Amino acid sequence: HVQRQSQQIAVEGCCHGELDAIYSHVNHLENRHNYKVDALLICGDFQAMRNKEDVGNMACPTKYKVLGGFHRYYTGQKKAPMLTIVIGGNHEASNYMWELYHGGWLAPNIYFLGHAGCIQLNGIRIAGISGIYNENHYNLGNYERLPLDPRTMRSIYHTREYNINRLSLLSPPSIFLSHDWPQGIEQYGDTDGLLKKSPHFQHDIQDNTLGSPPLLHLMKTLKPEWWFSGHMHVKFEATYPHEKSTTKFLALDKCLKGREFLEVIQFPVASCPVPNPKPKLTLSYDPEWLAITRVSNPYLSRRKIQWPFPGADDARQRVARELEWVTAAFPKPEDLEVERVQQFVKTVYGPTGKGWARQVSREDGNPQTVAFCEA
Ligand code: 5GP
Ligand code: MN
Repeated sequence: HVQRQSQQIAVEGCCHGELDAIYSHVNHLENRHNYKVDALLICGDFQAMRNKEDVGNMACPTKYKVLGGFHRYYTGQKKAPMLTIVIGGNHEASNYMWELYHGGWLAPNIYFLGHAGCIQLNGIRIAGISGIYNENHYNLGNYERLPLDPRTMRSIYHTREYNINRLSLLSPPSIFLSHDWPQGIEQYGDTDGLLKKSPHFQHDIQDNTLGSPPLLHLMKTLKPEWWFSGHMHVKFEATYPHEKSTTKFLALDKCLKGREFLEVIQFPVASCPVPNPKPKLTLSYDPEWLAITRVSNPYLSRRKIQWPFPGADDARQRVARELEWVTAAFPKPEDLEVERVQQFVKTVYGPTGKGWARQVSREDGNPQTVAFCEA
């Protein structure tokens, strides 16, 4: 076995259907710097449209309602050249992402983290949340149903307190992904430089209304090493201080020629909790997130009303108990590899995983959740 020295992870701001251009830019960087990028992270507005119907499920001005390049990756006409991990923003094929509420493959090699989620890439923990903050829907349940109408097409991508509550139970991840920025993060970098590039932020910065309040709370709670965002269409770097550590924040632009839309970051193997990562890149479920999923699933409301989430201390104790269940059910690290678990789900629930729907009354996403939540 060859020991990996480091992993190169590329981060991109908003995608807006421009996968071809993004991959070709990564390829250009690989040739110029003579390295290989292991994985690409995309911070939302991904636009995973498979067909015309999906285009009709995306909320955006009419002139942007175009199919984009994703469908060729979906059909297999093109193959994503590297593992690509994405979250959702406010312009999405929201019907498709809704089907993968708990995360899953949008296309071969393109993994959606879910409305909220946490996975491990060779031991690097990557957590994230989809959508943008809007106070009108923040405290509601996940009441939207397919087919979406012009109202639910917009509310469906508004982040919910339910998911902030779930994510706040994680121990610190290496990387956190969000589409909009944590509120006030512009104060922890070159604020004047940002204002020069984006003068239209002036009022929001004055009023401290730029960015999402619950994401600021989450950043303080989780203290991730890195936090990547998109949405604002500008590159911005900041360092957020915690008592004993810092979070390095990096926001990137959308993919347009001449714009700062992509960065490659080297993650040393030493920073991975796994002592000897395999030479092959593996994507695994995060055991703690599975425990959180087991604790939180009964509180997933499919109506407008959202019943209260357990208090933090109670929830933490329950997560610790469920983590024992997860460890017993998946004793070896390789048991949690995404491919293995999905194979297991197919064996239990059939090739389409449809059998799960009859077994649970809640329409809560995909069969993998059921596999983790049963028993
Ligand atoms: P989207 O691509 O999601 O439609 O919109 C992103 C655009 O809206 C960017 O140009 C970004 O600067 C702007 N934007 C997003 N949120 C805010 C905000 O809170 N305040 C201001 N002033 N602009 C915002
Ligand atoms: Mn956006």
